[in-house]
Amino acid sequence: MRALKQVVLATGNPGKAREMESLLGDGFETLPQANFEVVSPAETGASFLENALLKARHAAALSGLPAIGDDSGLEVDALDGAPGIFSARYAGIDANDEMNVAKLLTQLREVPVGRRQARFRCVAVYVRSADDPSPVIVEGAWEGSIALIAKGQGGFGYDPVFIDRDSGSTAAELDAKAKNARSHRGQAMQSLKLKLAALPD
Ligand code: IMP
Repeated sequence: MRALKQVVLATGNPGKAREMESLLGDGFETLPQANFEVVSPAETGASFLENALLKARHAAALSGLPAIGDDSGLEVDALDGAPGIFSARYAGIDANDEMNVAKLLTQLREVPVGRRQARFRCVAVYVRSADDPSPVIVEGAWEGSIALIAKGQGGFGYDPVFIDRDSGSTAAELDAKAKNARSHRGQAMQSLKLKLAALPD
């Protein structure tokens, strides 16, 4: 039987770690970065890719093991791609989800239905070591639009105002399985799983 590949998940968010673990499926022994006393680094990169690499390299350096990092956010066309890499702190450094959503709806208050297109984007990377010169890089995008008002109880972040283009439901109205099947992170982790399965041991 093939040994499980050990990999550190470079996130301090237990919900996201669980989501990544279930999306990766069998074949991996996933370890939370907290097991190695890793605290997430400041997200100082200029892109989702730079931030994902920063997180993965940091976790690999402190654990001595391969690591997976990801970075994600919401891009709104009418706001020239904002909030983008600043999604978590759109309404300020200490902003919570409600404050970020409120700011987004305020920024879009003059924008009519039909011009509120948006997408969630996720970049995930796998590094074999902190200085891995050729990380495995994957991406996922989830197309939709921004609702006029929040709807639904599930999920987190901008889920209550993100309308999935295919179903017309907000991400907060989808159950976890339906969200994972179409989400940016679900797509990225699915691609990563396939690429990692093809790597030589
Ligand atoms: P990070 O990838 O943990 O840095 O997350 C960036 C931010 O993007 C989150 O704090 C949320 O505001 C937003 N975001 C990323 N993915 C999702 C999602 O699936 N639903 C809602 N908001 C999301």
